Amino acid sequence: MAEPAGPLTNWAGNITYSAKELHRPHSLDALRTLVAQSARVRVLGSGHSFNEIADPGSEGVLLSLTALPPSVEVDTAARTVRVAGGVRYAELARRVHEHGLALHNMASLPHISVAGSVATGTHGSGNTNGSLASAVREVELVTDGGSTVTIGRGSSRFDGAVTALGALGVVTALTLDLEPDFEVAQHVYGRFPLAGLDFEAVAATAYSVSLFTDWRQSGFVQAWVKRRTDQPQHDFPWAAPATEAMHPVPGMPAENCTQQFGVPGPWHERLPHFRAEFTPSSGAELQSEYLLPRPYALDALHALDAIRGTIAPVLQICEVRTVAADTQWLSPAYGRDTVAFHFTWIDDTAAVLPVVRRLEKALAPFDPRPHWGKVFTTPPARLRNRYPRLDAFRTLAEDLDPTGKFRNTFVREVLGA
Ligand SMILES: Cc1cc2nc3c(=O)[nH]c(=O)nc-3n(C[C@H](O)[C@H](O)[C@H](O)COP(=O)(O)OP(=O)(O)OC[C@H]3O[C@@H](n4cnc5c(N)ncnc54)[C@H](O)[C@@H]3O)c2cc1C
Repeated sequence: MAEPAGPLTNWAGNITYSAKELHRPHSLDALRTLVAQSARVRVLGSGHSFNEIADPGSEGVLLSLTALPPSVEVDTAARTVRVAGGVRYAELARRVHEHGLALHNMASLPHISVAGSVATGTHGSGNTNGSLASAVREVELVTDGGSTVTIGRGSSRFDGAVTALGALGVVTALTLDLEPDFEVAQHVYGRFPLAGLDFEAVAATAYSVSLFTDWRQSGFVQAWVKRRTDQPQHDFPWAAPATEAMHPVPGMPAENCTQQFGVPGPWHERLPHFRAEFTPSSGAELQSEYLLPRPYALDALHALDAIRGTIAPVLQICEVRTVAADTQWLSPAYGRDTVAFHFTWIDDTAAVLPVVRRLEKALAPFDPRPHWGKVFTTPPARLRNRYPRLDAFRTLAEDLDPTGKFRNTFVREVLGA
């Protein structure tokens, strides 16, 4: 049954989808029929992207998978999980943990859908932690004519099939690698300067490290250090431990944040910054993020420091993370160990966009790839130069979707087709 799509917005409220209809099929067969009968289709995940990536356009339909069974099938012997296309990380992680197993990493918020996250190259932090897509071993897609295509690791198409911007079809299920359950102890540290920073030493302190700055002054206001309890423990000698529970945005109440002060706990209750029990229904913020080769980290930090007077007035907080290289052709971490500069802005598009342009100019020498799900102004032609396997992806998209049913304006611009 079709629902009128408008006014349907993303989580942040800065995008109103222009789709003519929203459908929530109750069965895979109904989904196949809808796909086969529609000229333009995009799937809406949990709507946590900040741009038009999910919008099919005014002649297209949006599909939500929330009415399909939210299946999570853990195979403890194989250490894998098969998860349905509409499931969010919070639910997936809880079920995986019940089986004594773990995902390798999580994003800052657990409320985002698994399929939508891996489609955009979503990541957490950690020098050795690939993006969330790097855990995927198989993807099941309902394509163009409504038939199912399964693409697994080992297939020549696989490296285009996971971080695929929703351009290949409807992801109805993903199979992910798991590892044995582990515990994490999270410590938050206070201010430390940019001057004299040994970025590599800081980033190597623990399994996952996030540095936060509001750019009101040079240097960082917090570091969130997440140590696996089964790995060697390293000190964080650059700053004093926080004396009270912290929110990444200074001054915000910390009760929605994951447990700090080094209290060990399960991976899924420490790797995200925000608790699964707290469900933000909407967000008064915009986000941008740029991923660049890790060796540029320090130079890029100084380039940002040089324009902090421009950044700070519209910034809530900036987070610096690391991501291990992966092999997905359209992953912003494709082929390079990465440093990611994330910006949570105030929710004022008109005020933020000029700053985003200035920021992109400052980062341009460092070959930045914008996060696919966030606000950016980089012209598509420049983006294309930053993805060496873009042609291979275009071929894959045209092969699986010859009529361009799943290619919206956002994707067509990226592909230059
Ligand atoms: C508060 C907040 C915190 C965040 N934290 C992080 C973070 O820590 N790290 C990070 O890297 N990013 C982060 N993000 C960005 C976020 O992870 C991405 O925008 C992600 O794509 C959101 O997933 P979604 O399902 O909500 O996406 P949507 O916006 O719903 O969809 C994103 C894309 O995926 C496609 N898609 C979704 N489901 C399917 C499917 N089943 N089949 C085919 N295509 C599909 C959509 O068509 C669209 O193209 C954050 C965003 C917010 C709002």
